[in-house]
Amino acid sequence: MTHIARLPTVAHFDPYAVRAQFPCLHQEVNGHPLVFLDSAASAQKPQAVLDALMHAYAHNYANVHRGVYSLSDRATQQFEAVREKVRAFIHAASEKEIIFTRGATEGINLVAHSYGMTHLKEGDEILITAIEHHANIVPWQEVAKRTGAELRVAPILDSGALDEDAFFAMLSERTKMVAITHMSNALGTILPVERIIRAVHKMGAVVLVDACQSAVHDVLDVQQMDCDFLVFSGHKLYAPNGTGVLYGKYNLLESMPPYQMGGEMITNVTFEKSDFQAPPLRFEAGTPVIAEVIAFGAALDYLSTFDRHAIARHEVQLAEAARDVLHSMQGFRMMGEAPHRGAIVSFTHAHAHANDIGFVLDKCGIAVRTGHHCAQPLMARLGVPATARASFAMYNIAEDVEAFARGLHKVQKMFG
Ligand SMILES: *Cc1c(COP(=O)(O)O)cnc(C)c1O
Repeated sequence: MTHIARLPTVAHFDPYAVRAQFPCLHQEVNGHPLVFLDSAASAQKPQAVLDALMHAYAHNYANVHRGVYSLSDRATQQFEAVREKVRAFIHAASEKEIIFTRGATEGINLVAHSYGMTHLKEGDEILITAIEHHANIVPWQEVAKRTGAELRVAPILDSGALDEDAFFAMLSERTKMVAITHMSNALGTILPVERIIRAVHKMGAVVLVDACQSAVHDVLDVQQMDCDFLVFSGHKLYAPNGTGVLYGKYNLLESMPPYQMGGEMITNVTFEKSDFQAPPLRFEAGTPVIAEVIAFGAALDYLSTFDRHAIARHEVQLAEAARDVLHSMQGFRMMGEAPHRGAIVSFTHAHAHANDIGFVLDKCGIAVRTGHHCAQPLMARLGVPATARASFAMYNIAEDVEAFARGLHKVQKMFG
């Protein structure tokens, strides 16, 4: 991946230069330049990632692990090198704590099944919050159903912030598992995860952090955070689909049974019994997405050429500018105004359904997500069926917010 290593380190963050490196952004939609404001659902990929994907398939492709021939060895080395890059990206203590998954959903299911099903029992409580993504609700519902544990949901305030008093009051010695998002994909709310984790650990429970959004918009340090598990998806982080990460503290991973059985995760198999690998391979049954993981490494290399705090500042500035526009216009209502929030803006209109907003904006070339954002219980709590959501990424520019404002004026004109 020498073409990655040649990228210069950029001292000052220049979103225009970044934008130039994302081919998919350079197209017209419905006669307008594309304004892509749906990166919270999935991000576009920079040329460096596309090149790395193509390069891996064209030059270094073979199945990984156990190959005695050079090509397989090369593919394995490049694949395993990404484990170290991920370790560094989230500052884990060891690369043995990094499990490749197909995405955050698989990571949460892995923990729910492997840890939840074996450690939880009747009388235990699983605590989540009202702003969780379905991926961090449904697996725990299933664990509760099968183990007899109780799933409890900490409420939010009208602002979309976590009701911290209620949350902390719900913690008790019955609490065994806490699964929380770091940053809400639907509202942008950022949770005080470090404070939560300290309190949960005092109760002797373990914490899983859903870092799908914070992995993009924040700089993660799992040792400082002291989370027990953390998951995120590669595709929201400018990497290919089918990549994702589960971080787990090694002593916990070591105590957990496999989630899926098959090749790669065993050391010895007879028809009578099988011996399992140590983590992380114990949790990586079957052939992984090899070239995609290698290109995931290229995405991390790409990000490492920037000051990531500068990226985060840039994204939040754009989102706050978009919020200002919405506040200045009649008919629109902001959903989610927690004091601590990231580059996601969720809103509704008094007379237009979220889908209508989405259709009008699309006619202007603007891509926003509309719907429940995989958070139906949250929508019910907010009393709306759906919202429109604009989310900002490193490649968005001030002109995108201006186009967004023009689009909103169209909505206002059509729906009053
Ligand atoms: C996207 C997202 C998920 C699910 O990620 P997948 O890539 O679909 O597995 C879970 N939680 C949050 C907060 C998300 O934004």
